[in-house]
Amino acid sequence: MATLRAIAQLGAPVLRQQAAVITALDSPALQELLDDMLFTLEQSSGVGIAAPQVAEAQRAIIVASRPTIRYPNAPEMPATVMLNPSFTPMSNDRHKDWEGCLSIPGIRALVPRYTAIQVRYTDMTGALQHTELTDFPARVFQHEYDHLEGMVYLDRVEHNRDIISETEFFKLIAAR
Ligand code: ZN
Repeated sequence: MATLRAIAQLGAPVLRQQAAVITALDSPALQELLDDMLFTLEQSSGVGIAAPQVAEAQRAIIVASRPTIRYPNAPEMPATVMLNPSFTPMSNDRHKDWEGCLSIPGIRALVPRYTAIQVRYTDMTGALQHTELTDFPARVFQHEYDHLEGMVYLDRVEHNRDIISETEFFKLIAAR
């Protein structure tokens, strides 16, 4: 049975650590961690989650773009577990758009991200996968990848005035 995990909040040291490479791909502890991450993501209306957010400094993320209460305009994609992920930008094109984070509740900010990336990761069966992500899913990937490097999205915000309250964010997208 998957467990709802507490989300590490900004200031928790685990969010500032470099996460460790996962080597024991078939361990029951890893399977339990991934099940808990999927369940916690589902319950919190997120579109992505990284293991450090549930206080495990390991290189595991889930990218799960879908329309939720937190991201009403997100495109639909199946929840994808990515172990030891890495990426290469396909061009220098970057675009600023709104992000939020379960570890930093109540605010949103404009963050520049690469619009198209090549992604490599190991899947839950241990197979190496390559894929291309663009636009919002590429943004979610880069946000979650940063968590593995001990970074949060606020570190990439260009101006303080690009940071707004979540209440104002919902007014903004309702007006779109
Ligand atoms: Zn986050």
